[in-house]
Amino acid sequence: MYISELGELWHRARVEPSIVHLDSAAASRSSNKVIEAVTAHLWRESERGGYVAQEQSSELLARTRRDIAALVGHTADELAFRESALAALRALLTYWNMPLSATVWVAPNEYGPNLDQFERRGYAVHTMPSTDGYGRVDTDALQNMLQFEQPDFIHVCHIGSHSGIVQPVAKIVELAHDAGVPVVVDAAQALGQVNCVTGADVVYGTSRKWIAGPRGVGFLATRSDSLRPVEIESSEAFIAGRIGLGVAVQELQSFGVEKIHRELAAIGKYTRERLFGVGSWELMEPVDEQSAIVTLAPPPGWGPSDVLAARDRLRSIGILVTCAESWRAPLYTEQSVLRISPHLDLRRGHLDQLATELRGMGY
Ligand SMILES: *Cc1c(COP(=O)(O)O)cnc(C)c1O
Repeated sequence: MYISELGELWHRARVEPSIVHLDSAAASRSSNKVIEAVTAHLWRESERGGYVAQEQSSELLARTRRDIAALVGHTADELAFRESALAALRALLTYWNMPLSATVWVAPNEYGPNLDQFERRGYAVHTMPSTDGYGRVDTDALQNMLQFEQPDFIHVCHIGSHSGIVQPVAKIVELAHDAGVPVVVDAAQALGQVNCVTGADVVYGTSRKWIAGPRGVGFLATRSDSLRPVEIESSEAFIAGRIGLGVAVQELQSFGVEKIHRELAAIGKYTRERLFGVGSWELMEPVDEQSAIVTLAPPPGWGPSDVLAARDRLRSIGILVTCAESWRAPLYTEQSVLRISPHLDLRRGHLDQLATELRGMGY
């Protein structure tokens, strides 16, 4: 009944959902252990005092720091916690010594709010070339460009918010470093889905998406000498959330991080195969793209408000998905899509239900 052999385990570690949750790219469901770790810390804060409770949890917090850093190929002393991925980027841009009118190259799937951050600081933003029709960076063309011109840095969303396309980050890092250009990776959607050890100079992300930690925790891993994580980290913070994140990562490790990557890729493929050609919705990734984010463009003639209405209709019958509007990837599209992002507990019946609804909507 589960698509993945890990499905039953993932499901059993959590409360029974009251809906069909296909929205991990927004926020995954936390496990009972994560919720218990968060609440246990809140109780300790009340019993012993917030700062004492933090001191007494120092080992667990240190382990969380090591574990998250390792997931992105960094060391514990290179990691700073923030409240979210966007807060991590803002902190980076605040503390990094960039020239006044810095040039940054981004991929076509760049997240709109990140672009706002660059624009606010007066950076010149250029889009790296893509030729596959999906917005994936063409690394041959990039290599060529880098011979003639070098930006101050490259910023790339390993996986964006508007499509399941996985950018060839390891290759981009290799080419950029050959040209002496640092690379910053937004791993908000990638962490937990794909290998994020790419050699990138800076990697940041968030707890609540694919690693199923609590909301309100993000992180930034740096390697640059000009950046000191202790300066970047928020001193006042949701410590219980960091502890919950640590437990979420331990659970991931117990399942096997690489195994989860493989299973999520298989779930993405299964989902795309199942939804391919349903009711004139159009699949926006290759079927075997290595991620569990699946996006569907609406039937011809539908506008953004129709996609939003479809999302609402699905929600009203208990199926949770996202209507991903163009602000999430403004360089790539003007279109809204339905974003379906199941986790390991996906069942065949969920997709049957979704497919039936999609087919029934308008067609
Ligand atoms: C969700 C997301 C972010 C922002 O993460 P927050 O934790 O909400 O700040 C950044 N980039 C991408 C690609 C995302 O999907």
